[in-house]
Amino acid sequence: MVKAVYPGSFDPPTFGHLNIIERARTIFSEIHVVVAVNSEKKYLFSEQERLELMSELVKPWDNVFVHSWNNLIVEYARRVDARVLIRGVRNLADFSYEFDLAMMNRGLNREIETIFLSTDPEYFVLRSSAIKELASFGGDVSSMVPPNVAIALGKKYPLAHQQAISG
Ligand code: ADP
Repeated sequence: MVKAVYPGSFDPPTFGHLNIIERARTIFSEIHVVVAVNSEKKYLFSEQERLELMSELVKPWDNVFVHSWNNLIVEYARRVDARVLIRGVRNLADFSYEFDLAMMNRGLNREIETIFLSTDPEYFVLRSSAIKELASFGGDVSSMVPPNVAIALGKKYPLAHQQAISG
């Protein structure tokens, strides 16, 4: 009965994130999705917005929980008694970044293992930053993010969204 934590910015959640959660929830007894709050980072969506979007998305899954956290992730894992940190990797660049992060977290707590799940091929181009950029130009993001996120993005960029639908 191993519990896992899946941390990230989720600014905003994408089908790529959901795919990782959906697969991980069949491997681990509980998944604690942690919406990271880092005062050094600039987010498009507030902590509350990211938390609400993600909570809505995981509602159908009874072993998935969503929280926000503004401290070390290994500390969060310790609190919920999770032994695993899940991270998703799309390509070599992701892996190199994730590997360094895993080493750092290992240095902080040797009882917690980072496990990487590789993206499913259809999601490997999905990246929150690129999706935000596309939405800011009024591009159609409906194949990349769930409907609640597409609506929220439309509200962040009302002008671009309006121009796109009026052609
Ligand atoms: P961060 O802000 O920490 O870079 P994100 O919030 O974008 O991370 O994502 C959280 C985790 O999900 C990271 O491990 C990231 O690599 C992974 N991830 C993001 N998008 C995808 C995707 N399309 N396929 C697989 N993993 C993904």
